[in-house]
Amino acid sequence: MARRAELDPGVQSANRLQLDLSGKVALVTGGTRGIGHDICRAFIDAGARVALCSRDGAAAEQTASAFGEGTRGYACDVGVAAQVEAFAKAVEKDFGQIDVLVNNAGFTKDTLLFLMTEADWDSVVDTNLKGTFLMTKYAARGMIKRRWGRVINITSVVGLNGNKGQSNYSASKAGVIGFTKSVAKELASRNVLVNAVAPGYIETELTRAITPEAKKYFQDNIPLGRLGQGSDIASAVLFLASDLASYITGQVLVVDGGMVM
Ligand code: NDP
Repeated sequence: MARRAELDPGVQSANRLQLDLSGKVALVTGGTRGIGHDICRAFIDAGARVALCSRDGAAAEQTASAFGEGTRGYACDVGVAAQVEAFAKAVEKDFGQIDVLVNNAGFTKDTLLFLMTEADWDSVVDTNLKGTFLMTKYAARGMIKRRWGRVINITSVVGLNGNKGQSNYSASKAGVIGFTKSVAKELASRNVLVNAVAPGYIETELTRAITPEAKKYFQDNIPLGRLGQGSDIASAVLFLASDLASYITGQVLVVDGGMVM
């Protein structure tokens, strides 16, 4: 396919054209740094207007103003229903609609099972799983009415394979996969497509605490020979938001350099 695009510039420009998201409004949770920030950048470059949030309203506003006109930042903890409802309403009022929702906000609190407290469990499940449910519930209503929408949930390879010390995180991310498939079935008749992207090891603040030895282990075990970047995930999300993905729903797209296969 890449070879054909190289040989035939027409194929390449046709593909680029379909990745044009101008006229669309994307809501990205956790857009202030890491993968979410790179997803916002990719959407803005494709012509979309973007609403982003984090629990830190000042950081969200700062990030949005650095992106420039057409982007707005909001304070919202995705695990709190009242905040999510108010956030979705504010975005619809400010932008007129929400076409694409990216449930990216995520959080870890790693420890072994017998050391894990109820608070460790709840804080991770509330952001990663309940947050995905709440945001989808409040942001997808307009998509259903307009008969066009995309929901893209960021899960993790850990939700597929599990990981020592991450039972709360991997349960939340496996839950996101089940949620994605169920809601994809519910909303398909309204042309609202619901998919998940499962990153492998991506270099962000979330993974900064990992020891150099563990990092080397990952690197040595990734067939493509490098750690992932936020832009690798952003490209997959952009694809799923684009017209190129109009016959894809209920899927998990693993973006991990081949680490899990
Ligand atoms: P970062 O920690 O770099 O960024 C997380 C973002 O989410 C921040 O903007 C943060 O802002 C926001 N956030 C966290 N909790 C909440 C909340 N309750 N409500 C609203 N916003 C929140 O993480 P990454 O960029 O690495 O991760 C992004 C997503 O990708 C997550 O879902 C993560 O689980 C997933 N992922 C990451 C991998 C990696 O290797 N990095 C691998 C697999 C999956 P603030 O703290 O200000 O609220």
